[in-house]
This record gives sequence, structure tokens and C-alpha cells, in this order.
Amino acid sequence: MNHLILFLIQIVVGIMEPMEKREFSLEERKMYARQQLVEGWDQETIKNSCALIIGVGALGCEIAKDLALMGIGKLILVDMDKIETSNLSRQMLFHAGDEGRTKVEVAAERLKLMAPFLEVEYYFDKLQNLPMDIYQRSDVIIAALDNVRARMDLNKIALRLKKPMVEGGTIGFEGHVQNVIPKGSNIKFHEREKVIDEIVQEKLWNLSEEEYTEYFAAQESIEKLEERIALLKSQFIEPVVEKVRQQVENEFDEKYSEDYLDQTACYRCLVPIPPPDDKLIAACTLKGIPRNRNHCVLKAELNFEKKYGRMPDLDNDEDIYKLMELAKEELELLRERVFKENVSDEQLSTLSKEEIQKWKINIRDTFGPNYVFEDMENILGNKIAAVQTVSSIIASIQSQEALKLIFRAKGRDIGPPMDPPYVNYSGIYGIFEQIPVFKREDCIDCGDIEGEENVSIVVPFNSKVMDIFSALDVSGYKLDSEKWMITNSMNKEILWHPSIPTFKDPKALLQSLKIKSNDVVTLTHLSKDIGELEIKKYNVIVSYL
Ligand SMILES: [Zn+2]
Repeated sequence: MNHLILFLIQIVVGIMEPMEKREFSLEERKMYARQQLVEGWDQETIKNSCALIIGVGALGCEIAKDLALMGIGKLILVDMDKIETSNLSRQMLFHAGDEGRTKVEVAAERLKLMAPFLEVEYYFDKLQNLPMDIYQRSDVIIAALDNVRARMDLNKIALRLKKPMVEGGTIGFEGHVQNVIPKGSNIKFHEREKVIDEIVQEKLWNLSEEEYTEYFAAQESIEKLEERIALLKSQFIEPVVEKVRQQVENEFDEKYSEDYLDQTACYRCLVPIPPPDDKLIAACTLKGIPRNRNHCVLKAELNFEKKYGRMPDLDNDEDIYKLMELAKEELELLRERVFKENVSDEQLSTLSKEEIQKWKINIRDTFGPNYVFEDMENILGNKIAAVQTVSSIIASIQSQEALKLIFRAKGRDIGPPMDPPYVNYSGIYGIFEQIPVFKREDCIDCGDIEGEENVSIVVPFNSKVMDIFSALDVSGYKLDSEKWMITNSMNKEILWHPSIPTFKDPKALLQSLKIKSNDVVTLTHLSKDIGELEIKKYNVIVSYL
């Protein structure tokens, strides 16, 4: 009884003391600029949240580090252990020399170093002894425990207080994560449609045969058809499959093993064309007029140079503020321009004040709000969205694959490398998807077409077309410049043709022919006795020094 009263008092105290809202400094906003780029991200939500981590071992350290780096406002750490030497191989918040100190205290210190804005509270105690208000004040409970008993106790508390809990554990190379969402926690976990489907299924099971005669008759027919399919398979399909299989097995070592057993698609197989560079695309429109929010910032960079006679220094806050003003001006111009494009002068005279306002709000929504400080660096530096959680998952998978490959390279085995060799992880849906990727026979890096050779050359920045022949010569390919034509492999433009004078300029520079670093040029043999040549075509990747 006493316990219950204490518990109730603690709940009331918990409700009466909501976490005060925390403010952001400029330094802090800069720190989290990249994750702010992730769609749907809201730093303020994280900043005003509190996670309770029970267990500060291998999982707890990693999770605490992740949440701290992402800018959570508060962490409460609970652990009843002191640091031992054997912890140092996994628990990245502890260093040699920490042995004997409590895990929670050292973890709190190290987390503060990583995330100066973080608030940490810690308890060197058993979870069963904690006052309930600690649970009550948390938005989520994280179980990073090493025994079942403690997990069961924590589970009870989470259910009783209706707090969501993320449970996790590992054993060797195996691991699991379980989300526990208690009834009444107000966290919508199930999808409405899915739940409806489930209820429908249950009702279908309980239909009466008298009332739904045709439904049950159809079910029965389907079962019979399925039996017939199974029979056809076993009589006529499977014996043939088995026969073909036996043939392949007999020939395998001789015919297939070399090509099939150890080869995956290479990186370049999946990236046949270099990804578009937003800055390059923008450069084409900059001389004219910006068409989107990012272009305005790039245009502002040009305007900055004109106005101040130098490029802006992105490490200098003052420059960034100046740049922000210039970008805002461009954005204003863009909004006005789009307004005029959509609303003619005639139309304008017929519109009410409210309608005009509505147009302006629509345009504002399309091109986004005014810039904030960190937008400048994000856009100018071509930055992409990044979040710690996904980073650590992907990094861990990479380490795991590397580990298996190292073992294989040393003639040992701790499990097969991923097959298919490509895995996508969706942090939104919590899904890992292995995707089959295929080696392209025409891949410039790993392809193998009979009669073709892929070569990489490195030439000075100011090289001429002729220099391709000398560079190939250095790589061991002696080609007569009078017998080979060179084309740009992307747009098929002729760069060199020995019998057409306009395409036979020994001084023509690769740069002026718009060959960029890592572009591919094709050398094709021109004479009629081509049949005797072993290699009829060279695909040459040109890189500049
Ligand atoms: Zn390839």
C-alpha cells in the first residue's frame, strides 16, 4: 500500500514539473545543420526530449553516444556496475585508466565532451530501486540490459507507466531489437487499415456455412485446384528441373566455377553515368535567373564576389550573414517573378486582397521560407542529409562485412559475405532489403567484351588529344595515331580522326574539347584489316593530374 501511495505522489510530481523548453544557440544550430536537412527532422523535438537508458554496457554506450550526438536534450543513465578491463573492447565511452570507476559517472563525463549542450543525470543503482518519477520524466525507456530478470522487471514498469520501451540485446553475431508500446501510451503504432484487415480476417473465419454456401464452395474448389497444381508439378515439372540440375552440376567445375563463384558487380557497374552535380547544373542557369531556392544561394555567392571583390569565407559568421542577405534578395525577386508569371496585370485588377495574399502564400510555400544561417553552408557546400542513427547502422554493417572478408582472404570462414551483395536499410520503415545487382558486361571498370579493352590513363591538365596516344604507350599499348579515331564516348563527338584535317589538330587541348577528369574516350580502329586485330576498341578513362 505504501508503495502505491509513493508511486502516485511521484506521478503527480512528474506531471507538475514539465521539462522547461530549451533554447537554441547559434553554435548549437550550426552543430546540427546536416540532420536539419533530413525531411521531417525537427531539432527542437529532440532537444526537448529525455531518454532513460537502463544499462550502460556495449549497447548502452553506443545508444547514449548516438542520442547525445544527435542533440537529445536529456539523458538519464542507470547502471549498477563499475568499469572492468574487459569492457574496454566494446564500450566506447570508457578508456584505459577508467577501471574501477562507475560506468554511469564516466559515461556522463564523456557524453558531455561529445555533446556540450546535453544534460545528463545518472544513477549508480539497480533499476528496481529507482524512484518512479525518473521513469515518469522520460519520453522513452531504453533497455540495454544483460539479463532476462532485469528485462522482465523493466518491462513491468514500462507497461504500468505506459511508457514506450525499446528493448535490445546481442549474443555473438546475433542481435534483436523489440519495440514495446504499452496500451494507453498514446503512441499510434498499428496502422488503422491493417487492424481493420485483421478484424475482417477473423470475422471471415467465423462465418456460418449455412449462410455463406457459395463462399465455402468456392474455397473448396480452390483447394482442389491447388491439389491438381501440386500433382502436375511433381509429375512433369520437377523431374525435368532435376535432370537439368544434374547436368549443370556435372559441368560446373570446368565451365562455370571461375566466372560465377567469386565475382560481384563493381561500384561502377551501378553508376554508368556520373551523378549530376547540382552546382554544375545551376551554373548554366546562373547567368540568367535562378529557378529554385538553391540557385538563389549560388547566385548570391556570385553577387557577393561582385560586391566585395572576393569569395565569401564560409567559416566567417559575418560573411555568412552578408551572404544570407544577398540570397534573401534573390529569393524575393524569384517570388515576385513567379507571381508575375502566374498573375497577369489584367487578372491582378480583378483579384481581391485575400486572393492576392493566397497566391503569395502559395509561392512562398513552393520556394520555402527565408534562409537561416546554416542553409548557406549546406547549399554552397553541396551537403547531403546525414543522421547519426543511420550512419552507425551502416558503418556497423560495413565493419561486419569487412570482418568476414578478412577471414575469407586468410582462408578461414566466419560466415558468408552478404549475397546479394547490396543491402538497403530503411530507417523509416525499419526494413533491410537485399537487392540483387548485376555485373554489366559493358562496365567500363570491370566489363569484359571480346575485342575491347578498358584502360585508365593519367595526363597533365593541359594535355592535347595527341597525348592520349603517348599515355597509352606508357601503359603498354602502342597505337598508331594514323590508324585510330578518338571519340567522346558520351556524345560520340569526334576528337581525333587521322584522315579528316579539321579533326586532326595536334594542338587541340582535351580541356577545350570538354573532356573532364574521369570522362571516357573511345579509340576505334579505322583500317580494313581490322579482323586481324585482337583489340578493336579501347575505352579510355582520362584523369587529370
Ligand atoms: Zn563493373
